[in-house]
This record gives sequence, C-alpha cells and structure tokens, in this order.
Amino acid sequence: GRGLERLNFDNTYARLPEQWYQRTVPQPLKGAHLASFNPHVGVLIGLDPCAIDFDELVRYFNGEIALPGAEPLAMKYTGHQFGFYNPDLGDGRGLLLGEVVNQNGERWDLHLKGAGRTAFSRFGDGRAVLRSTIREYLAGEAMAGLGIPTTRALCLIASEQFTQRNGMEPCALLVRVTPCHIRFGHFEYFFYSRQYDQLKTLADYSIDRYYPQCRGSDNPYLALYLEVQERTAELVALWQSYDFVHGVLNTDNMSILGETFDYGPYTFMDWHEPDHVANKNDDEGRYAFKRQPEIVLWNMSAFAQALVPLVPQAELEQALTQFMGRFRFHELKRMRARLGLQLEEKGDADLIVRLRQIAAAHKLDLTRFLYQLSDLPSDDQLADMLGLCGLPGELVEWLGDYKTRLKLEVASAPIRMAQMRAVNPRYILRNYMAEEVIRQAHAGDYRPLNELLSLLRDPACVDPALDRYAGAPPDWAGGICLTCSS
Ligand code: AMP
Ligand code: MG
Ligand code: MG
Repeated sequence: GRGLERLNFDNTYARLPEQWYQRTVPQPLKGAHLASFNPHVGVLIGLDPCAIDFDELVRYFNGEIALPGAEPLAMKYTGHQFGFYNPDLGDGRGLLLGEVVNQNGERWDLHLKGAGRTAFSRFGDGRAVLRSTIREYLAGEAMAGLGIPTTRALCLIASEQFTQRNGMEPCALLVRVTPCHIRFGHFEYFFYSRQYDQLKTLADYSIDRYYPQCRGSDNPYLALYLEVQERTAELVALWQSYDFVHGVLNTDNMSILGETFDYGPYTFMDWHEPDHVANKNDDEGRYAFKRQPEIVLWNMSAFAQALVPLVPQAELEQALTQFMGRFRFHELKRMRARLGLQLEEKGDADLIVRLRQIAAAHKLDLTRFLYQLSDLPSDDQLADMLGLCGLPGELVEWLGDYKTRLKLEVASAPIRMAQMRAVNPRYILRNYMAEEVIRQAHAGDYRPLNELLSLLRDPACVDPALDRYAGAPPDWAGGICLTCSS
C-alpha cells in the first residue's frame, strides 16, 4: 500500500543553515481524533487513500509516534504587521514536518498547525482552535474550487483539550499542504538582520525550487522578484473578482508562490461592500476590501526592499511601477470571463466599474447576480430579467448596456453560458456556512463540515441535498463577528 509510512520525504529545508529554523517535536493533544480527511490532497502527495490506517494517521500527526522521514522544525521569519516591522515572528504554533515528493516528482510541504509551543511562540500557547482550523480548511477547498491559488489541508484532527480564546475552545490540528511555506517575511528576516549571505542563499533556494526559469536571466534575483510580483498581482485580482477579503495582509502572510496563505478572519462578502473590513480588530480598516490591491503593492515594496542587497534598487523601483497595471490586467480578464465577454472591447472596464458601483449602492450580492446571468438559457431571458420589478433603475440600464455589448460577441449563447458557469460558482463559502459547521463540530458532528468541503470543491455543480447554500444568507449572518483570535 501507499500509506503514511511510505511517504517519500526529501527535506531540503531541513538541510539549510541552522539560523533558518529550530528543530521542534509536536506536543500531542489529549483525545485526538480524526474530524476530516481530504483524499484529493492525499492523492497530490502520493497517498493511496484506501491504504491509510486512520488511527495511525492520528497518532503520527498528533506526535504520539514519529512519522517516518519527517524532520519537524519551526521556521524563523519576520515581517510587517499592520505596517510595522516585527523581528520576533516565526512558526509560533506551526511545524514544517518535511517535504514529500510524489510520483510525478512534485514536491509538497507538510505543515502541522497547532502542535504546541516553539522557540517563536512568544506569549502564545502554540495551539490552534477547532473553529479556526475549520475555517482554514474550508477556505483552502473553496479557493481551490474557484481556481484561486491557495494552500490546502490533508486532514483535520480534533481533540478533547481546551484553551482560552473566545471563552474556552477545543484545540485541533491542521495538516497544511502546499509547495511553499516561504513568506515575504523570510526575506525580510535575513535583510533586517543583515545576513546578506543567507539572503542570497534564500533567493537561490527559492529560484531552484519554485522559479528555475529565472536562472537564465541576466539578473536571476530581479527575475525572481518579477515572477513573484506577477503571481501576486494575479492573486489579488482574483480576490477582488470574487469579493474576497483576506483580513490580515501582513507580509508574513504573503507566500512567494502567490497563494492565498494563512487564513484568519477572511470573508467572502455576502453583498458587495468596498469598505468591508473582515477583521474586527482592524480599527483603521487597513485591510478593507477596496484597499487590498494597494496594500498588496505595499507588501511587494517590502519584499523588494529586502532584495536590495541582490538587485539594483532602481530596477526594483521600476518593476514596482508595473504592479498596478498587472493587477488591472488580471482583474479585467477575470471579470470579462465572469460576464461572458470573450472579445476585448474598449468599454468593458467601464461596464465592470459601473456594475460594482451599482452593487455597492444597492448591496447587491455579486456571486448570486453573476450566477444568475450565467444561468440564462438565452439572451431573450435577459430581457425578462430586465423587466423584473424591484430591480433598481441603474441596474436595468446596466443590463440593457450589457445586452447591447453581448451582441458584439461571436460565440453562441449556449457556449457563452457554459464558459460563464465555469467561472461563476453556484455556491461560495459564506461566513454563516462556516459558523454552522463549526457549531456542529463543537457538538461532535463532523458530517456537515465534510459535506460542505465536497460542495466547495465543485461549486458550479447543483447539489440538490445542499442547495439551500445557493440561496440568500440567513438574517443572523450579518451579526457574525470575526477577529484575529485563532
Ligand atoms: P498570524 O496572525 O496567524 O499570521 O500569526 C502571527 C504570528 O503569531 C506568527 O508568528 C504565529 O506563529 C504567531 N502565533 C499566532 N497564534 C499563536 C499561538 N496560539 N501560539 C503561538 N504563536 C502564535
Ligand atoms: Mg501568519
Ligand atoms: Mg494565522
């Protein structure tokens, strides 16, 4: 079989110099038990889901027995939090277990979140609560389902151990899986501690592992910067296109692979609200929805700053001037696709801006609105939609202009609809859904969680059993309050 003891570990990070990390073993949780296993991610790392002994899996990841081949370590990094540099960061409750190479030669990091205190825990307990691990797990599958780059999780292990957060809450463990745990903050660590030789080693490691195409460049480190910038610009464009608010866009939560990374008080908005702030503790609205592109640009400049010993500053500054253009390019591309516009016409950007303005003014749920647009059997149906009473006048006018714009398209309506449905989900992960499955998990029932995970992986399909999730959120959804506490 291809069970856990057969995972093909090859831990390159553990062979890097010792100031990069601290070797640390996981501290077992009491009453650990499996809440969810993700066979899709299991296959990615070369597991045969049928060959897994789940009791053994829990004992391995709960640190009761050593996982063969793993070399657990806590990574050191730093970063800017809410605009201020913090030199004392690192994996305070996470451990890199090692890197697994699958049958195709693809390399995946296995990371344990919530495994106890490390050298970088500061005042923290090193634990993660069930609520926050469920939210991270759900978000990974939801993003993957939308085709947005993200970390994912192999499994969620619940426990009978409690810790203080919003009152006493049960602890849990998440096994995070992604090719990359290198953050902008890793570069900032070596830059601000003036370890420029290590900074170069980190840049070389990143190029070798993630961007080997940069090697052929005149300046491979500038090429690395540009690759990270391109992926990151596309990532934030996708967030803006799906009304996603990350919540805590600190540079230690920015992956150099351009994946959505470190899920805290994130939100897929129930209606389009440019000023939306997901994190209750973010008093100044630094990480409000509408500010995400400029904040990510700010983070790019922090990353660029850390590369100054390797790249002429003027070249980095020049590269940074291209970020917003790349962001707008990717955003327009995705929003055109969501509207079924395959041709590029001059007025398209304006049509999209107007739709957003109308959505903001009328608290329109863009997820459901765009799904409806993608679900019309023909253009005539659009005329029926136009005639709907209760639609704001501006929206009726917009739909009229949209219909006119569609006349320029070459593709037939059925083809256009099929393409629109591929980028307009019927289901999206709303806060109330996470709250519901968390409540049920607290009562020991993990089935709703597992059902929701399956739904989110395939958000375009109609699931009759769970179709209430396609509807409007319940009234109590508006009262949900999210904080950094996790
Ligand atoms: P985050 O807000 O999740 O990005 O975490 C910021 C920093 O705090 C990171 O260095 C984490 O490792 C650390 N941290 C967060 N929660 C805990 C905890 N419960 N115990 C120890 N360290 C933590
Ligand atoms: Mg973090
Ligand atoms: Mg976090």
